[in-house]
Amino acid sequence: MQFEISPDALANKIILITGSGDGIGKQLALDCAKAGATTILLGKTVEKLEQVYDQICQNNWPQPAIVPMDLNGANESHYQGLATTIEEQFGKLDGLVLNAGQLGTLRPLAQIPLDEWSEVMQVNVTSQFLMLKTLIPVLQKAQHASVVFASSGVGRKGRAYWGCYSVSKFASDGLMQSLADEYANSSLRFNAVNPGATHTAMRTKAYPAENISSLKKPEDVVAPYLYLLSDSSIGQNGLFVEAQPK
Ligand code: NDP
Repeated sequence: MQFEISPDALANKIILITGSGDGIGKQLALDCAKAGATTILLGKTVEKLEQVYDQICQNNWPQPAIVPMDLNGANESHYQGLATTIEEQFGKLDGLVLNAGQLGTLRPLAQIPLDEWSEVMQVNVTSQFLMLKTLIPVLQKAQHASVVFASSGVGRKGRAYWGCYSVSKFASDGLMQSLADEYANSSLRFNAVNPGATHTAMRTKAYPAENISSLKKPEDVVAPYLYLLSDSSIGQNGLFVEAQPK
């Protein structure tokens, strides 16, 4: 699959990226803005979102919006408020990237405390369900809206000690596939990207002693996300795309 898009491929699009203050989400927000999109930056740490906001404004790319939100604490009314605000301010949503994620602690499944399990499931799965439930009507106001999920290799094949993270990524993939099927004959499309091993805070938490010199950086893995958000991918639905194919 070719992921090339034109430099202004996302012009006039409104794109919400969760977890856009750091890692892959941050890089994606910068590249979406560079390609002409008005970005909605959602994340937990306001200072990180403000840094991305400043970087976008300094480059004279379209002015973004900031939404500080802890996906672990947010309830259904927060998501409804987000949907109402987006509809009032922008009238539509062209792109949604469900990128925010938590790793939890890698350990044997039987040793995972229930509160850790619940938090990872809340952030990695339930928040996606609630966000889609409230935002699908706003996505339907766009001509061809695209939803992109951040997936993982352990969301396709379970791995020892990756317990709740792995299970959450399987569930998120199920969400993507179910919605892709439900909306197969509509203007909406749902796809997932596995970025593959990428040098970010999450990767360092999973592999603290790893030699990072051979690891891809966020800027190396965002091309498939940009492609799936652009009109070049209209008609692509239900795909699991590898950013680093073997
Ligand atoms: P990072 O840890 O670097 O960034 C995660 C982002 O998610 C941060 O912006 C963080 O915000 C946000 N986030 C986490 N918890 C919450 C929360 N409770 N509420 C709101 N925002 C939250 O991760 P990556 O960039 O590495 O990962 C991005 C996605 O890619 C994830 O879904 C991950 O599972 C997936 N992935 C990553 C791989 C890798 O090798 N890096 C490999 C395969 C998949 P804050 O910083 O404010 O906490």
